[in-house]
Amino acid sequence: MLLPRRCPLCLRPGPAPCDRCAAGVPRAVPAPAPPGCDDALALFAYAGEGRRLITSLKFGNHRDGVPRLGAALAATVPGRPDVVTWVPTTAHRRRERGFDHAEVLARAVARRLGCPARRLLRRCDEGHQTGRNRAERRVGPSLAPRHRCPSTVLVVDDVWTTGSSLSAAADALRSVGAQIVLARTLAMTPPPATVGREESIAESAGPGSPPYGGQACRLG
Ligand SMILES: [Zn+2]
Repeated sequence: MLLPRRCPLCLRPGPAPCDRCAAGVPRAVPAPAPPGCDDALALFAYAGEGRRLITSLKFGNHRDGVPRLGAALAATVPGRPDVVTWVPTTAHRRRERGFDHAEVLARAVARRLGCPARRLLRRCDEGHQTGRNRAERRVGPSLAPRHRCPSTVLVVDDVWTTGSSLSAAADALRSVGAQIVLARTLAMTPPPATVGREESIAESAGPGSPPYGGQACRLG
């Protein structure tokens, strides 16, 4: 039986997330792309309802929102990359949750863009970003390439905290042939000074928002 989609935030059947909840998700603040990335963008801030949305996907195994979030991310990508990949979670987390949320998201983005999704990166560490403080996260995960990489690659991840994961991914991909590395994440951790000054995505971001440098955009 095909179950109706439910909004991961209010749990009402219908669009996931629903328009009302999407309007309450705070926008990301503009930020320069992490070193190694030609451009980078987060859909929303990792705060309030934005944090709840990530938690529902990551820890609640609530994947109803993936198609809409994937479509919103895909809409920010200029042109069509040669391949879409993701920052892999640790083997431990993957076993614990039964899936890699970044992979699920990346595959949804690739489907929308009409390009292949490939596992191009592997982790050389088993450290967990979750629970580490900002200084510890700045070091980032240790990533290595698994294959040769085509010229233009889009890297997808869930949360952009310091940018170290995206930079590590870009470095690894460039070492095996990537020329242009684009990065897209669902959420971005707001810099400490901006917490409390969040605006909602629906209020502040129009369809003409430039898709570069950490600008926010609409969820649907
Ligand atoms: Zn809702």
